[in-house]
Amino acid sequence: MRKNIVAGNWKMNNDLSETEELLAQLKQHLEQEPQAEVIVAPSFTNLYHVFQSLAGTPVKVAAQNMHESENGAFTGEVSAKMLTSVGVKYVILGHSERRAIFKETDELLAKKVTSALKNDLQVIFCVGEELDQRKSDNHFNVVEEQLSKGLFNISKEDWKNVVIAYEPVWAIGTGETASPEQAQEMHAFIRKTVSEKFGSEIAEEVSILYGGSVKPANAKEIFAKEDVDGGLIGGASLKAEDFLAIVHSF
Ligand code: PGA
Repeated sequence: MRKNIVAGNWKMNNDLSETEELLAQLKQHLEQEPQAEVIVAPSFTNLYHVFQSLAGTPVKVAAQNMHESENGAFTGEVSAKMLTSVGVKYVILGHSERRAIFKETDELLAKKVTSALKNDLQVIFCVGEELDQRKSDNHFNVVEEQLSKGLFNISKEDWKNVVIAYEPVWAIGTGETASPEQAQEMHAFIRKTVSEKFGSEIAEEVSILYGGSVKPANAKEIFAKEDVDGGLIGGASLKAEDFLAIVHSF
């Protein structure tokens, strides 16, 4: 049985005191065994604090990015090993903001994926089309290419440490959500694409999250779809009440 996961991507939000406030509320209301694995992704500066603060809870900590090299003269960058050394279990790679604003290519992402897995980090690998690509009916091709170039260099054994997040770019931070049917259609396509390359056993096991304006009002309907195994939550993860309502939407 594959895992349900709800991950909060805090992006470049929450300084230390805001982080403490949010953690306190999360800890107060999160029961010991939620229906889904719960992950939060704070900024680099707060990772260790969040890890320590969440000790004894089931919540896991993710980083939002990392450098592909092990160490060296890369001013301003953070490696996979540095992340695991402060308690980080997951790293989000290929988020559309990294692809669009920071020009991360599929080739670069493939290197990051390799480095993360080699250093025992689990990868949340994001894919998703832009609006014009959907309008021109290219969305399946775009997602297939992102998967095959960025993710599919890994070995079969690596798949137990991979989660895929489908995030249509037109739905991120826009208030516009893919319909549950649109999400299901793409998730089923992703699972089929994984199956064709790595076999049905791996495809059935991999958790595929939906991201893009998930909120308490729509989470239940989206998560109910057969191939949707949870969500990657941006805006709504910044409010404990909303995030917890989403966690409780299974
Ligand atoms: P959103 O962001 O929930 O604010 O749309 C999702 C994401 O970027 O992961």
